[in-house]
Amino acid sequence: VAVNDLFVFLLLFAAIGIGWFLGRRQAQAKLQTADFPSQYYRGLNYLLDGRSDGAVDAFIEALEVNSETLDTHIALGNLLRKRGEVERAIRVHQNLLARPSLPRHRLHEAHLELARDYISAGLLDRAERLLLDLCGEAGSLRATAQRHLLDIYRSEREWQQAIAVATDMLPRKTLLGNSTEGAGPGQAVSIALSHFRCELAREKLESGEIQAARNLLRETLQQEPGCVRASLMLGEVEHVSGNYRQAIKALRAIRRQDPGYLTEAVGLLRQCHAQLGEEVELARWLLECVQDAPSSLLVLAVAEDVQQAEGIQAASAFLAAQLADNPSLWGVGRLIGLQRGASQGSAREDLDVLQILVDRLSAQSPAYRCDHCGYSSRKLHWFCPGCKYWGTIKNIRGAALD
Ligand SMILES: [Zn+2]
Repeated sequence: VAVNDLFVFLLLFAAIGIGWFLGRRQAQAKLQTADFPSQYYRGLNYLLDGRSDGAVDAFIEALEVNSETLDTHIALGNLLRKRGEVERAIRVHQNLLARPSLPRHRLHEAHLELARDYISAGLLDRAERLLLDLCGEAGSLRATAQRHLLDIYRSEREWQQAIAVATDMLPRKTLLGNSTEGAGPGQAVSIALSHFRCELAREKLESGEIQAARNLLRETLQQEPGCVRASLMLGEVEHVSGNYRQAIKALRAIRRQDPGYLTEAVGLLRQCHAQLGEEVELARWLLECVQDAPSSLLVLAVAEDVQQAEGIQAASAFLAAQLADNPSLWGVGRLIGLQRGASQGSAREDLDVLQILVDRLSAQSPAYRCDHCGYSSRKLHWFCPGCKYWGTIKNIRGAALD
């Protein structure tokens, strides 16, 4: 075993040596040296697969830390983290911080990596402390630290803090890239910020602080006028407060923000209009919405109104006319349902069979999908777990063709 350990140790040493040499050559060619060649990583990975734990530890202790070997230590720590050996990664990175002789900006790099180790290990408090320190620094390091902090606050649902960091990151920054011009990858911070405010407003609403919720939502709409979620929630707040006209006003804004979300508002709109005894008014408005942005779910909502007011035959006629322009499985299902209600005998039995088939087909399609990454789900989430974007998940059954 001891001989085997020695062997792995020597191989590691050789690998690091080659990496260092390549890094130096790159430096001479005035290239970025922060990223090691992938071949070198592969080799290191391979060696780590066959090693015994003692070899790596011995290696860490043996390789002197100075500004020239620093990249190697950081890279080794990162590699260990990627392999899920977080404790060992923490030890490698911590080992670097114990060398105050290193230049300040290099120490900060080690700080950042250590924070990432802590995040991987779920030690979010410790990560937060390190990242807050780094936020006091300038440049891209600070921006990176802020993005990690936002991730932590989001997963911990610390909306107040998330709002503070995001506000500080405004304007023009994005959530992923290093760009300060707003052109980089990732979603605009301002979008995330509006959702943090909505999350906080939700908490306020649930704890009965209606005015605080209202203020947050108004502030959101002032800064991000296209925020559908804030309009929906403001409608909810006004409805809860008995301000039905205000609620209707807030909800109707969705028509110009993003008509794809109107179906989310129909239920609440119905309640408000019913309170005011103005159901006809809503039916007329919904019909207008359907005409300028066809959506099968809205069509269904209008068909319901028509059925209430004029009966099954009128509703069927309306639905059939709409389906001719914008065919949808859901619409067909609803049409069959209406016809079933008005038929008897063998015609009714045939329609029963059709209804089951169509229902089964529509049950197979997901109701919601993320515009950005395609993640699909049964219900509306404002935060996409797939791509970590806010407000990109939409009702695809409401689309013109589904
Ligand atoms: Zn997504």
